[in-house]
Amino acid sequence: MPHTRVLAVFLRLAHMRYRKSRLFCINLHLCVIFIFADMKNIYNIYKLASRIKSQRLKLLGIALFHIMGRRYAGIFFDPILACNFRCKMCYFSNKKKRQTTSGIMPVADAELIAKSMFHRALKLQIGCGAEPTLYRDIEKIIRLGRQYGIPYISLTTNGYLLTKESLCRYIEAGLNEVTLSMHGVTKTTYEMLMVNGNYEKFRSLINAIIEIKRLYPHFKLRINYTMNADNVEELASMFECFPDLPVDVLQLRPIQKIGDSEYNNFSTDKLTECYDTVISPLQKECEKRGITCIAPSKENLAALDSSETDDMISEFTYWYISPSSCWKADYDFHTDTFESYSRKHGVWRQIIKAALLPTRKHKVNVTRKMNYSVK
Ligand code: SF4
Repeated sequence: MPHTRVLAVFLRLAHMRYRKSRLFCINLHLCVIFIFADMKNIYNIYKLASRIKSQRLKLLGIALFHIMGRRYAGIFFDPILACNFRCKMCYFSNKKKRQTTSGIMPVADAELIAKSMFHRALKLQIGCGAEPTLYRDIEKIIRLGRQYGIPYISLTTNGYLLTKESLCRYIEAGLNEVTLSMHGVTKTTYEMLMVNGNYEKFRSLINAIIEIKRLYPHFKLRINYTMNADNVEELASMFECFPDLPVDVLQLRPIQKIGDSEYNNFSTDKLTECYDTVISPLQKECEKRGITCIAPSKENLAALDSSETDDMISEFTYWYISPSSCWKADYDFHTDTFESYSRKHGVWRQIIKAALLPTRKHKVNVTRKMNYSVK
């Protein structure tokens, strides 16, 4: 179907559903901007997406991207299920869970997966629920991302095994961003929560990244900070402890139960209590420094407490891949492509249904980033 006809169908559907809405025109304009947004800057896309308040309109946009063969997915790729840390908030701190979490993806499988799905990805995040730098062929995965034209490739790591040299190699291979996990600002909290971590080593890596950013000015550093009752207050001293922190994106994630772990205070009460004195001022400081801050709003925190969400966007845009799973349980990357599977299972119809039928709330226990406001 020609793209203009698809666009006309989309506009007609959106108009039928939203003709009485005053915000329709604004949202529609934002959708059009979104379609033509600079795909290289994923955070601009998140910002635009967070400005479109209507989930239905976003879903219609996704349906449009789907049918036009455009990229709209975020691929979250764990090529190895292992970690050298035993962070207290993570399931790797649980012996039983460690024994059942294992696997290494053969490079040949990674190649097949890339061939069948990477052309529809807007972002490739390597490392999601494990430590990717333990995977010997990490550079190969980055190269596959570049080969299939994924506009944004990010590596999420605890950073322990990274060196200035290895990071430079990954950047040359196509890496756009490194995301470092950091669960404490001070040495005491960092090493207490990130078991096997070393604060001095982390600081040296930060210094190496300062140098790397001089060589590669477009390379981005993101920090993921999981907030809990014991580390949220010290966020207030982030820029005192790290005055030259070369961070481009700071993500503050509330603690969530993602499996059995040594740390078991999952209450977000303290985070709500510190919101106006710590989280909000930090967001403002980030804004002043030109840093993108991805943080939950107070409403997001309340929604997490209820463990229910009506978020349907991530149902269609969040694709998880590991040595033991690939996107959907019945997706076989040996024989399927994203397009053949979608045709067989009516994915486009599912998106349209989600956009037009009444929304149902469902249980969640994992944070997905599009839930957060981006500042
Ligand atoms: S949080 Fe990350 S670094 Fe820490 S144990 Fe879990 S996977 Fe490893």
